[in-house]
Amino acid sequence: MLWTFSLWTQTEALEQDRLVEKRVDVFRDLESLLHAHRDSNRQLSGLDLVSEPQDIFNSLNETSDVSDSGTNSVFVLLSTHVSRPRHWVRKSIAHLLILVGGSKQAMLAAIIFVVMITGQYLLTKRGEFALSASPKSRFSAGCSAPILVESHDKKAASEVVVAHSKKNKNDNGRPQDEEIRAMNDDKVADLGAQGAVALYSLERLLQDPARAVKVRRKIVSRHECMSQSNFSLDSSHLPHEDYDYAKVLGACCENVIGYMPLPVGVAGPLNVDGARVFIPMATTEGALVASTNRGCTAINAGGGVVTALLADGMTRGPTVRFHNLQRASEAKAWLDSEYGYQSIEAAFNSTSRFGRLQSARSVIVGSELFIRFKSFTGDAMGMNMMSKGVEKALAAMAEGGFEDMQITSLSGNYCTDKKSAGINWVEGRGKSISAQATIPGEIVRTALKTDVDTLVDLNRSKNLIGSAVAGSIGGFNAHAANIVTAIFIATGQDPAQNVASSSCLTTMTKVGEDLQISVYMPSIEVGTVGGGTILRPQQAMLDLMGVRGSQEACPGGNAQKLARIVASGVLAGELSLCSALAAGSLVKSHMAHNRK
Ligand code: ADP
Repeated sequence: MLWTFSLWTQTEALEQDRLVEKRVDVFRDLESLLHAHRDSNRQLSGLDLVSEPQDIFNSLNETSDVSDSGTNSVFVLLSTHVSRPRHWVRKSIAHLLILVGGSKQAMLAAIIFVVMITGQYLLTKRGEFALSASPKSRFSAGCSAPILVESHDKKAASEVVVAHSKKNKNDNGRPQDEEIRAMNDDKVADLGAQGAVALYSLERLLQDPARAVKVRRKIVSRHECMSQSNFSLDSSHLPHEDYDYAKVLGACCENVIGYMPLPVGVAGPLNVDGARVFIPMATTEGALVASTNRGCTAINAGGGVVTALLADGMTRGPTVRFHNLQRASEAKAWLDSEYGYQSIEAAFNSTSRFGRLQSARSVIVGSELFIRFKSFTGDAMGMNMMSKGVEKALAAMAEGGFEDMQITSLSGNYCTDKKSAGINWVEGRGKSISAQATIPGEIVRTALKTDVDTLVDLNRSKNLIGSAVAGSIGGFNAHAANIVTAIFIATGQDPAQNVASSSCLTTMTKVGEDLQISVYMPSIEVGTVGGGTILRPQQAMLDLMGVRGSQEACPGGNAQKLARIVASGVLAGELSLCSALAAGSLVKSHMAHNRK
């Protein structure tokens, strides 16, 4: 069935620039919706502007012709008159009268429109609309009933989509939500495969996250793009049962079809700052856990790891634009001034109990100003916290005399998140940690099968000179990323943050007859609240190390301890791999652990 969308609005009702803005918004929304559905039968017909209610009526009649050819039309009415009740009532009645004068479809549309407006008005105290339904969700539900297009500000418009089809005004053939809920999974999946139920709407529609996952697997299996394939997701080995999807919903993943089980190994216990801790590692790389475990044994024999926290601050680096370099320079001078900094600091800190701005260094390129906000974020890794705080700080900056500032992007890559960048290596991001251990020469020989001189030489040649000639940024190590990523996945960290978090400089020195080994890791981006740390299996792994959640007595203490453990695990991994390379046993041990 062909769908067309028309946006109608009274031009007198909205100021011209706001109107254009709204048209673009609605148009884009619908367009992306159609694109997401990849449905060539649904077309955006265009947005008609009308200035008089009578024109709405005329357009309605014209579009009815399209309906005669079997097309469903969705009419979007933009009105502006709900903020003032009396005015609103008057206008709504006018609409009703005009629409009723047209056709049966128009009458129904008008009634729906008024009922909707009334309901919205009664639901909100001052007649200001709250967002009650997004066009996406209503559309995905196949709904041809009225749709509130978007919420609006205090003064302005309400948006109502009134839809009708020739055959059935309230119903494009898709059953009501309650009916769908009462169907068996296969029936719902059939609807989904026909495009009547969107994949992403299943949780809301079925109100049962586990069932939504089951049905989604069936829909994917029945999708036409899978018709040539022998593979069925539904009966595949990707597990989906016995998982707490309620925790995932709205927090960790969308369009969920199951979960990916990964083996989790444990290395240690490793003595970190005087306390022994097991290190959980989720990996599919054979030999990795065994190797790290060997490193732990050698380190423990020398008394364990000592760590130092050098800095703790997450960063967000927006880019803002001025008309010229002079204005950008004035803004920078303001930021660097005591008064300016205090203004943004107060604004930033007001957004969180934990966020405490530490610095806001900036650079100018042309007329663009890049500001690197750095803040303590407690036990959270902190990206959400930073974004919230930075938004407020920029608003304070605009109020402080820079209304002409345009915010190009809240993240201007000066942060720098999930991309290799010298600034993280030099200035640090998240937790900056140094860790050190001393391994008795005897242990190097017996447990690591090499000797101190060979190890020191190998480290200098490989991790220092080799990385230097390769032009490395922060890659002065053997395989820090292996340990970092395995711990990140096991503990619900953001695995993409292994990019900066794995930056590491490994050094080895001979002290007497012993080996002194150290790692310097300036950008360990970890948290013990928020993100994937809300999931129970990941929480169990944080519990294993005694770092789950918020440390009430000393906020930030858990995340800092986790960072110290990560660096200590890396130290163990570096020691063991470098020893294997020095002893020439790398290939041998991989053959033993990687090949059955
Ligand atoms: P992130 O900022 O790492 O993306 P979230 O925003 O998901 O993390 O989680 C941080 C949330 O956790 C904030 O709402 C914050 O108020 C709350 N929170 C509770 N305890 C702490 C704590 N000890 N440290 C930091 N945030 C905490």
